[in-house]
Amino acid sequence: MVMRNEDKKKDMPTPEEFQKQLSDFMKEHFSGFPLSGFGPTGKNQSSAAPPEESKERSIEDLKSFEYRPKDVKAYLDRFVIKQDEAKKVLSVALCDHYHHVRLALEGKEAPNYAKQNIILIGPTGVGKTYLIRSVADLIGVPFVKADATKFSETGYVGSDVEDLVRELYRRSDNDVQRAQFGIVYLDEVDKIAMARNEAGSRDVSGRGVQTNLLKLMEETDVSIRSPQDMASQIQAMMEAQRGKKSSSSINTKHILFIVSGAFDGLESIIQRRINEATIGFAASRQESLDDDAILASVQTKDLIEYGFEPEFVGRLPVRVVCHSLGQDDLYHILQGSEGSIIRQYEQDFAAYGIDVLYKTDGLKRIAAMAAEEKTGARGLMTVCERIFRHFKYELPSSEVKRFEVNQAVVDTPSEELKKLLATQSERAREMSLDILREITTRFHDSHGIALALEPEACDHLIELALSKSLSVREIWQDRFKDYQFGLKLIAKNTGQKRFVIDRKAAENPDKQLSDWVVASYRDQEASADHPTPEPTPESPQGDAQPPKTP
Ligand code: ADP
Repeated sequence: MVMRNEDKKKDMPTPEEFQKQLSDFMKEHFSGFPLSGFGPTGKNQSSAAPPEESKERSIEDLKSFEYRPKDVKAYLDRFVIKQDEAKKVLSVALCDHYHHVRLALEGKEAPNYAKQNIILIGPTGVGKTYLIRSVADLIGVPFVKADATKFSETGYVGSDVEDLVRELYRRSDNDVQRAQFGIVYLDEVDKIAMARNEAGSRDVSGRGVQTNLLKLMEETDVSIRSPQDMASQIQAMMEAQRGKKSSSSINTKHILFIVSGAFDGLESIIQRRINEATIGFAASRQESLDDDAILASVQTKDLIEYGFEPEFVGRLPVRVVCHSLGQDDLYHILQGSEGSIIRQYEQDFAAYGIDVLYKTDGLKRIAAMAAEEKTGARGLMTVCERIFRHFKYELPSSEVKRFEVNQAVVDTPSEELKKLLATQSERAREMSLDILREITTRFHDSHGIALALEPEACDHLIELALSKSLSVREIWQDRFKDYQFGLKLIAKNTGQKRFVIDRKAAENPDKQLSDWVVASYRDQEASADHPTPEPTPESPQGDAQPPKTP
């Protein structure tokens, strides 16, 4: 079908209509999608921006940055166990960086300042991210973490490294100024260096990503709108058409970059260099260093040999090594770190009114098991999850309000949980028996009639209460409500003042009562025919002693 020009024109929306349609479409299909600027008047944009006040406060904070390295280290000591050297080096680098930021904000920036970007070397789960996240919290700057492996050179497959900066912007509540002083943390950076094939030629994509990162680490402007984000691009085009200034950008000059990784195989490169340097000199006195000590002596050339571009390494002047964590360290993390996983479990149980008491032998056992996992402090999470999984499921619906985590619980959690529940149900049973005793005593005091509950009857009532999630008192009130009237009637007819309630009676109290009432009339008639003497206090019929409920 051929469309004439006028028809086409007639169907074409005006720019305002188009904006509205697009806005509706995005709302309908991508709820939660950032729609700033897509309203017909563009008002959404200003409402999405953070209040002016919060912007100023955060920048004011940086303007008055006055931490000293020892303050930062003391703060980190509260959360991060061990890693003393790393904490010191990081504290110094962070303080240098943000003092420099303060000067820049005051317009007194020193020329040619070399940014203190950091390489953090260490195995998984030893606190690398935790360190950086904690300092970002302390200083109050936005923080973004990503894995280097997800980036590709072009950004068409995988993400574009500039997305990291855009993410900082997002985390700063779309505040460009705050984003410009944030921290970007890139993990698994060793993977973009290591990719060297057998023939020794380096992986092109890894090198490309390094080059792109280098640009960010030096200084560049990153548009707050991603070229891959269609909606942002349409918005930018429309703004350009309407003569608006194109979208703002984030300058990366003062963004602190921290890259990290386990750097498997780096020790042997360093060791080889050390060996070569000592050959023919002090070969006989070579000390055998452990892996952590070897890594601590890493140099730029080792990292280049490992597979990094020299310019890339050059932009990362601070080198920090985080050491692996032993069993004792893991115990101290559990017991002493403010962010310890056991505090989390404490809170989880407290939500159900359950207190957890950690015993030293239990914590030591958790640490020992976690050490076997060889995933650093992450092992603690795995082990705790395994131990507490069933406790978390069962205890909230049980009567247990307190339990101890000792070695036995850690070694055989399922068995200990069963024991705990059994002990608890025994305790609950005793409490229910006390309640039944109290009920029958009160019945006797009020009505002068003794009820003797047999043990099997008590068991039945307790089971019933449990199965119906009612208290044993509620069960009693519901099932024996007619007993007061019925038994008084029988007492009047026959003088009987003591009644034994066996299991059958407990199972069907109404039937038992009506049988007794019927029998009492029969007895009354019989005694009218053949009168018998009043029952003596010893006779079962007339015995109104308080019941001997078990
Ligand atoms: P990675 O070194 O792989 O970045 P993380 O810092 O993410 O490891 O550690 C995972 C979790 O383990 C942290 O959130 C923290 O709870 C705990 N953790 C790791 N190392 C330490 C440590 N040295 N001190 C206290 N907690 C730690």
